[in-house]
Amino acid sequence: MDYQARCHCGRVRFSFRSPEIRTGVRCDCSLCLRRGAVLSSTYIPSADFTPHHDPRDLGVYLWNERVLNNYFCKACGIFTYVGDGENARDGYRVNLGCVEGIDPLALDIRVIDGQSVPLVHAVDP
Ligand SMILES: [Zn+2]
Repeated sequence: MDYQARCHCGRVRFSFRSPEIRTGVRCDCSLCLRRGAVLSSTYIPSADFTPHHDPRDLGVYLWNERVLNNYFCKACGIFTYVGDGENARDGYRVNLGCVEGIDPLALDIRVIDGQSVPLVHAVDP
C-alpha cells in the first residue's frame, strides 16, 4: 500500500510503500517514553520511503549512541520518523500518528524493550 503522512501543521510530509499496517510498537527507552509515539513495527526500507523534500524544515535529534537521526518538524515539533544516521541500518521507522488512514491506537500494539537494548531503534527487536 502507498501511505501518505504529515506532521501536525502540514509543513513536513513524507510517504512510503508498505504491506498493510496492522501493528505498531511502543518503546520504553527514555526518548520514546517522553514522546509517546506509536512507531511502525518495522523499518521501512529506504527504497520504499520518500522523506520530506526540504531538510531545512526538519530538526534532527541525536542521542544515545548517536547513530540514528530522529527527525521532527521545526514548526510544530512533531516527531515524524527516525533513521539514516551514521552506521544505521537501512530504512526508517515512522510515527504512525502522522500517517493518513491509520488510527494508531486501534492497532495491535507491542511494547519493545528499548531500555535494556541500547540500540533497539537500530535493530529489529
Ligand atoms: Zn509541523
